[in-house]
Amino acid sequence: MININDYEKIVGKNTLIELYTLAEKLKGKTIQNINSTSVGGGVAEILSKMVPFLKQLGLNADWNVIKGDGKFFEITKKIHNALHGRKENITKEDLEYFVEINRNNISNLDLSSDIMFIHDPQPIGLIEKRKDYNNNWIWRCHIDITSAQEDIYNFFKTYILQYDSCVFSAPSFSRKDLNLPQILISPSIDPLSDKNKELTEQEITKIFEKYGLDLSRPIVTQISRFDYLKDPIGVIKAYKMARKYNDCQLILAGGGATDDPEGIKVYEEVLKEANDDSDIHILLLPQDDLTINALVRGSTIILQKSIKEGFGLTVSEALWKEKPVIASAVGGIPLQITHKYSGILTYSIEGTAYYLKQLLNDPEYAKQLAKNGKEHVKNNFLITRHLREYLLLFLSMYY
Ligand code: UDP
Repeated sequence: MININDYEKIVGKNTLIELYTLAEKLKGKTIQNINSTSVGGGVAEILSKMVPFLKQLGLNADWNVIKGDGKFFEITKKIHNALHGRKENITKEDLEYFVEINRNNISNLDLSSDIMFIHDPQPIGLIEKRKDYNNNWIWRCHIDITSAQEDIYNFFKTYILQYDSCVFSAPSFSRKDLNLPQILISPSIDPLSDKNKELTEQEITKIFEKYGLDLSRPIVTQISRFDYLKDPIGVIKAYKMARKYNDCQLILAGGGATDDPEGIKVYEEVLKEANDDSDIHILLLPQDDLTINALVRGSTIILQKSIKEGFGLTVSEALWKEKPVIASAVGGIPLQITHKYSGILTYSIEGTAYYLKQLLNDPEYAKQLAKNGKEHVKNNFLITRHLREYLLLFLSMYY
């Protein structure tokens, strides 16, 4: 178990003192986080680190996951896509089922904590229970809802407005029509976790050997759930264009999330597009942070060619490992990458291919981008900054 005090060597003593001082002011308060999956995706990644650290700081923090069946998660996946702006056919019955499952969860969860921190759309309906307790409710929205499908957004808006405040990951995600405090807090990575800690050459080699991957030739990698919005087919197309000029291999690696039933379908389409090409490695992974860590560290260039994105934690994870990153200019990615300074931002398959070719041809330039990227993540996207902002948010409920 990582101890919060171990971060002193990365962020300095004063940061730790500040965290303890803020936490002290919240002593005795209970904080309950609720989301819809315990593994897979950025939200579970952050909560699995954040909640133990809040506890170590002396707070009474907890994390629960709502329960739903396959039908519920198919509906919430469509809702997720629609809120991201993709056209989806969501029926009145779908929304009624969504409400029903939320109500079932109300009966099974303790929602009486002083601060209820509800993550993303899936459990948003728990707010109905608020009337029974005089507690504070915050909705933490991890996705970009600024171009949401209107009817679905309006359905959710009636819930959002019942919260005391909502938190978005980037300034560009705030919405003028929401008449409640909108707080902007970007996510973070945990530099000492298995996902991000330093690894030895032997540890990296072992993982590459396990998957039959060749470390002696350049490797381009995207780590993502198999999701249309991560554009894995676009990644393969860009790779195929770039490799006409530079020898390189492609790894597309990812697992599933229990609240994402679309994964297998996307995975099968990706396999079809890869067409048994021996240089394209499609890895359907179990949840294993050390494997992800090693795959990124052994790669030459990291891609994140998303069509829509919440924050895009994978970008900071790669930059922290001092890897050059080429990523789409969507969601929170431009917060993490300044074009041609701390990475490359692209807008198309052709653009991605163009910069792949450029970085593969110019390793010194790629190295400089990666170096700047790591510095930027160190200054802005480590978990200690995130903890500080959450503590200040919780405190703002009382002062
Ligand atoms: N991730 C993982 N295993 C996988 C695919 C992704 O652990 O097979 C992690 C990834 O390292 C990152 C998170 O899941 O920590 C994905 O977060 P991001 O914000 O990039 O995207 P999301 O999946 O939340 O849309």
